[in-house]
Amino acid sequence: MAQKLLLHARVLGERAPDSGQGLANGRIQMHMEQPVNLLTFTQDELVEFFARGSEPAYRARQVFAGLHQRRLQSFAAMTDLPKALRAHLESTTKASTLSIESRYVSEDGTRRFLMKTHDDRPVETVFIPEEHRDTICFSSQSGCPLQCTFCLTAQLGLFRSLTAGEIVEQVIIALNDAYGVGMKPPRGINLVGMGAGEPFLNFDELMKALGIMADPQGLFIVPNRVTISTAGVVPRIRELAAITMRPHLAISLAAATDELRNELMPINKKWRLEELLNACKEFEQSLKPGERVTFEYVMLAGVNDSDEQARQLANLLNRHELRAKVNLIPHNPADPLPYEPSTPDQVEWFKAILESKGIHTYVRRPRGRDIYAACGQLAARRENNLLGVAVG
Ligand code: SAH
Repeated sequence: MAQKLLLHARVLGERAPDSGQGLANGRIQMHMEQPVNLLTFTQDELVEFFARGSEPAYRARQVFAGLHQRRLQSFAAMTDLPKALRAHLESTTKASTLSIESRYVSEDGTRRFLMKTHDDRPVETVFIPEEHRDTICFSSQSGCPLQCTFCLTAQLGLFRSLTAGEIVEQVIIALNDAYGVGMKPPRGINLVGMGAGEPFLNFDELMKALGIMADPQGLFIVPNRVTISTAGVVPRIRELAAITMRPHLAISLAAATDELRNELMPINKKWRLEELLNACKEFEQSLKPGERVTFEYVMLAGVNDSDEQARQLANLLNRHELRAKVNLIPHNPADPLPYEPSTPDQVEWFKAILESKGIHTYVRRPRGRDIYAACGQLAARRENNLLGVAVG
């Protein structure tokens, strides 16, 4: 069995996620030296994997439930499996590949996990408790290749895209930490793909992870509870619109003119506002009743927060006749970033101008700023002055 499982690990390999720049290189990368991570498999793939090792389907289903429903992070804990099978799985495969390096708890209850992949790459995940539900913000890449000037993650550059298993495991770790291993969340869980990285430059692994997490025999977090935020990878917006069970979409805008957006978000040079908004207009057709195309607008004092810029933003959205909603995000400051957050008064004024032009507008409350867990602050920080609790 061990032999067969190993062999199969080579056959299935692990699909290399999109490298970050090349959207469609479709390379297959074998990690022959690295035991296969069972978290990267859908339930059907796990059944197939076990079948090649002459193990029955019900065993695969047991393991799938062990990993995703009971959220067990080792085979040793799956005491319903025969000892010999546990030992084989232990020596040839992985039930977990992320290790927690530090865990920070904010005064508002937000928790930030700084983790490491098997090849020593940083991964950050944030757990945000709220009154009626809890939200987990996961990362799609280690670092980020986009060079948005207001975002601290950009300063890391891209290490690599994360596999589906690494995306799923972030959620498992955050859930176990918040509620206890395998314990049912007391409130609803929402997921947001707004951590480090550009999710749409890792589209295939992201969508695979969402499929695994939606499995009723697993975590059972359906796409309707998930929001993915993109800086504007236009072809993927179109692709997402065609998927029936799709997550919600948010677009990071930050500016209403190409001139300013080119400066703040260099991805705009590749896909201009006009093209982006046209894709959003197409995406609108896939919206459910009551749903809107969501735009995130980070508020930078003296850069993009003037009355004139509010009018430009409203005109841009109205010109495309978009069923839109704007979330204003006060900038989360970080030492090396050359920006200040807009004053609360200016944020309110900006909101009032948008609303006067018929745009639904909300102001997002920053969470976990004190522990560098807020939007745009994920940069593998591990300062001593944070309320960090070292784990392990
Ligand atoms: N790459 C994706 C997801 C990560 S960023 C994207 O661009 O959408 C998630 C959100 O955080 C984006 O809306 C982005 O505009 C916002 N953001 C980035 N840096 C920020 C900062 N320093 N303060 C406030 N929001 C920030």
